[in-house]
Amino acid sequence: MTRDERRAALEQIANEVRACTACRLHEGRTRAVPGEGDPDTEVVFVGEGPGFNEDREGRPFVGRAGGLLVGLLGSIGWQRDDVFITNVVKCRPPDNRDPEPDEIAACAPFLRRQLEALDPAVVVTLGRYSMGTFMPGARIGQVHGTTTPADPATGARDALVFAMYHPAAALRTPALERDSLDDIARVPAVLQRSRDRRAGTPQPGGDAPGGSPIADHVPTPAAPPAAASAPVPPVESPAHPDDASQLTLF
Ligand code: SF4
Repeated sequence: MTRDERRAALEQIANEVRACTACRLHEGRTRAVPGEGDPDTEVVFVGEGPGFNEDREGRPFVGRAGGLLVGLLGSIGWQRDDVFITNVVKCRPPDNRDPEPDEIAACAPFLRRQLEALDPAVVVTLGRYSMGTFMPGARIGQVHGTTTPADPATGARDALVFAMYHPAAALRTPALERDSLDDIARVPAVLQRSRDRRAGTPQPGGDAPGGSPIADHVPTPAAPPAAASAPVPPVESPAHPDDASQLTLF
């Protein structure tokens, strides 16, 4: 898929989301939140669903949790515009309740089509419901900070999935915020591993295509911690490999 085709496909999906009435969540929404970001990115973050601020603005992760996500991305030298951010349900559940299974199922085709268009190398799940889409049966306390090959049925045809806590949970619990900082520090290495994997380079963890089963959650070593006063080390922008001009260094 060319860059123009990717952009057109994502815009078509967004337009369908804004008009969607496939589940009860459309009844209470102010604005649907299809997702946004760089259509040429290699990294997609998937949260659970819009909250109060997201519902008002029609954009994902714009409240306090969004602020933390931006801070987490900044800790590895990335900006939110470098990645694509979306949710498993695109309309706000009333009173910020958890999305119901039938609502997640009704909305799943939109996420699958977004992933098919983006063809990311890495899908970062934020929270239990996003994790449950890509790592069925897993427990967030056990698999955060680990990778697993994506099931191509999710739409991510050749990606590694990396699990993290939801930023809203991290805001409530300082220990989870520390875990989230440790976890996000692993993402550049996961991206490089996925690039190697997609290029067919044998992987020490055995998760090359056709390798270990999906249930194998592979711990990913964290990047060495940077000194507090040290400048942010150069990190390769997570741009889509089709767009060589985007492969810049920060
Ligand atoms: S949550 Fe998804 S399936 Fe439900 S109305 Fe919104 S866009 Fe449609």
